[in-house]
Amino acid sequence: MKKDYYQILGISRNATAEEIKRAYREKAKQYHPDMNPQNKKEAEEKFKEVSEAYEVLMDPKKRQLYDRYGHEGVSQTFKGGGFTWDDFTHFDDLQDILGNLFGGGSIFDDFFGFGRTRTRAQTRAKSGGDIHVILRVSLEEIIASAKKRFRINRYERCPVCNGRGGSELITCPQCRGRGQVQTQTRSFFGTFTSISTCPQCQGRGQIIKVPCKKCGGTGRVRNARTIEIKIPRGVANGQYIVLKGEGHYGPGGNGNILIEFEEKPHEYFERQGYNLYLRLLVPYSQLIKGGAVEIPGLNGKKNKIKIPRGSTAPQIIKVKGKGMPRPDGGAGDLFVELDLKPLEHSDKNLQRIIEELKKYEGTPVPRKRQG
Ligand SMILES: [Zn+2]
Ligand SMILES: [Zn+2]
Repeated sequence: MKKDYYQILGISRNATAEEIKRAYREKAKQYHPDMNPQNKKEAEEKFKEVSEAYEVLMDPKKRQLYDRYGHEGVSQTFKGGGFTWDDFTHFDDLQDILGNLFGGGSIFDDFFGFGRTRTRAQTRAKSGGDIHVILRVSLEEIIASAKKRFRINRYERCPVCNGRGGSELITCPQCRGRGQVQTQTRSFFGTFTSISTCPQCQGRGQIIKVPCKKCGGTGRVRNARTIEIKIPRGVANGQYIVLKGEGHYGPGGNGNILIEFEEKPHEYFERQGYNLYLRLLVPYSQLIKGGAVEIPGLNGKKNKIKIPRGSTAPQIIKVKGKGMPRPDGGAGDLFVELDLKPLEHSDKNLQRIIEELKKYEGTPVPRKRQG
């Protein structure tokens, strides 16, 4: 005795399409054979059963037939007189459900092993992989657009066989040169014919009779290489450049080298965008008198900045155009924050001067807020 479709999905006879969907979503997860490794067989049956119910109830015509005549009414709508996976038309929904469940479609593909919606076989030759390099650079190097070298280990085309993997090529016996093979996959969904890349020749259609001694037939060899680049002007943390075709060799083309720049923290300077920030500890007398002072520069030379007479601390002096170089040719600004340099030690003489100074200083006053 066949079970009632509505009962199978646990819904009422006047359930809406939305309710049917929701019920199927739940049951499909519950009975998915991969989720039931202990009783796979039983789960498979249940999974097929809920899918059959879903197939019928989601189709207004079939549903009407079923409502009126029961199982008898719909059995003839199935190709073989009874439901098989060939009658199932909601693989997209299923992919949706299971794809979400497993966080990707690959398991789904393995599981169904079918070429019914995926007949597009991958016969294109594989291209080589990318190489990701993180390059640590200092602010000085960025400013100078310095040259930088690094070592990589990459696959390159075998020079002996020129990437072919061997000297003598013959037509692949498995696919007879087509690069594709048809396989029949038997699963509980029925038998599917799928087309896939020939495993023997990897889609090339030819195999090597005598494998190359140098690369063992793979067509590629691993080499250590030194790469030299010029650091892009003003490059910032996290930015990267791509060296096209400098990555691993593959029969379908070389991959790329992706160079990501990581900025080394600087002893004195802090970078924000293209601006630079520096804290300068200035002796008290120099704050009062003002004048030119030297600060470290990132280009190897010292920079001079002018402290205005009667400066206080903290106070910020903006030096236009002395920040990091911009790719467009300009530059950011340098902000120098003046701070009071502590007196390193106090001898008797200094004590006397401070006492003297106090007479002129007066009492603390609140500092006016600056706009
Ligand atoms: Zn070779
Ligand atoms: Zn083949």
